[in-house]
Amino acid sequence: MLSCFSFLPSRFLNLIHNYLASNLFVFAIVCIFVRFLESFNTINIMQTIDKFNFAGKKAIVRVDFNVPLDENGKITDDTRIRGALPTLKKILADGGSLIIMSHMGKPKGKVNAKYSLSQIVDEVSNKLGVKVAFAPDCAKAADAAKALKPGEALLLENLRFYAEEEGKPVGIEKEDPAYEAAKKEMKAKQKDFAKTLASYADCYVNDAFGTAHRKHASTAVIADYFDTDNKMLGYLMEKEVQAVDNVLSNIKRPFVAIMGGSKVSSKIGIIENLLGKVDRLVLCGGMTYTFAKAHGGEIGNSIVELDKLDVALGVEELAKKNGVELVLGTDSVCCTDYDFASFSVKPGAKIEVFNSNNIPAEFEGLDAGPLSREKFAKAIEGAKTILWNGPAGCFECDEFTAGSRAIGDAIAKATAEGAFSLIGGGDSVACVNKFGLADKVSYISTGGGALLEAIEGKVLPGVAAIKGE
Ligand code: ADP
Ligand code: MG
Repeated sequence: MLSCFSFLPSRFLNLIHNYLASNLFVFAIVCIFVRFLESFNTINIMQTIDKFNFAGKKAIVRVDFNVPLDENGKITDDTRIRGALPTLKKILADGGSLIIMSHMGKPKGKVNAKYSLSQIVDEVSNKLGVKVAFAPDCAKAADAAKALKPGEALLLENLRFYAEEEGKPVGIEKEDPAYEAAKKEMKAKQKDFAKTLASYADCYVNDAFGTAHRKHASTAVIADYFDTDNKMLGYLMEKEVQAVDNVLSNIKRPFVAIMGGSKVSSKIGIIENLLGKVDRLVLCGGMTYTFAKAHGGEIGNSIVELDKLDVALGVEELAKKNGVELVLGTDSVCCTDYDFASFSVKPGAKIEVFNSNNIPAEFEGLDAGPLSREKFAKAIEGAKTILWNGPAGCFECDEFTAGSRAIGDAIAKATAEGAFSLIGGGDSVACVNKFGLADKVSYISTGGGALLEAIEGKVLPGVAAIKGE
């Protein structure tokens, strides 16, 4: 490189050579060091549960114990409790004390025995292998938390018995001129509530993937009261975030999504988003009838959202534009008298199959009919990436499981043939468990809305709060 300067004395050239070489060496070392610092900043700045030693510490852990209960308060699906166990057990095994907090149902800021977490405290004790104490008021648990010794655990009563948890003012409509002021006041109270919860503990763990898409007191606001070293995601959260990443960063095609459940309105955001990602989209469950109605069909008593007919037509249009194959059921299993509260067919009620756009007035569509089931199974066949959220019928009742079962079986088959299948949503997971298919799919997510928002590519507030974003 220095040969072009050969007219210079060789000693002089050697000097320049050595100077450059040693400086390049220093330059390279500085570069490596800067990269190291950069990676330190972005990756390692977040505390991780694996690294953290909980010995002698009190940890407040937000879990998602919003488990379905039957009318006697018995847990009908314990997936969410099992999901949080690795985190809870690690804390106890380290010699830490546990303060467990969760919401259940939608009590809307009022105490309601139907949603009391006292109903699940024995089951949590059994699963955790220690007797878990119960604090009947989550905002007045300072003494109970203080009394905890290493290896002991306390479960707080339902956080949503306080409106502060969700931070939305109750008893006032958005249209009311006083709403903004009420909202501001509630946000201030939410901070105090989060501060109270934070005061019980030395560190905070968020393992509630199911509510990670909500910016609530216990899922996000509380994180402000802990420094970076003392707040972290739990094992379940880490796993869920990874599973979503697996799907999105490595979509193998065909990618088939199946969206069901009761209403189109609760799923429209993700449906529109999926129309930009998937090859086929199966729409089933209660939303079938909003689509049928939008085309002037007779849907009898079936569940329908009359203000969403244009939304349904818009979905069809977008699918066409994006070249996505939209798969809708054509027939339904219908019933004249179904009790949604007890998930049972009333005595003397009739059950018959009709075309989904020709259902007699006294019937309502509660499950996919035989032709639809075949169509759904065919749409799933050969898929390489599968996402399922929302059952295809009122699977809680044995008379109306066939549609969801057909989908579950087809997913299990595709998975055995190499597809990656991801199933999420409280009811969808309960459904997969009811059919004994849990170990025949690739990943079962404990999140419904959170999973869907993460798939949409949104940053979840529960994750952002820990990362300090
Ligand atoms: P997930 O919890 O998996 O996200 P959803 O909560 O959206 O699922 O929907 C599940 C509910 O949808 C179930 O309780 C089921 O009974 C109901 N559902 C499914 N099909 C129908 C239908 N045709 N009519 C009324 N409800 C339905
Ligand atoms: Mg649900």
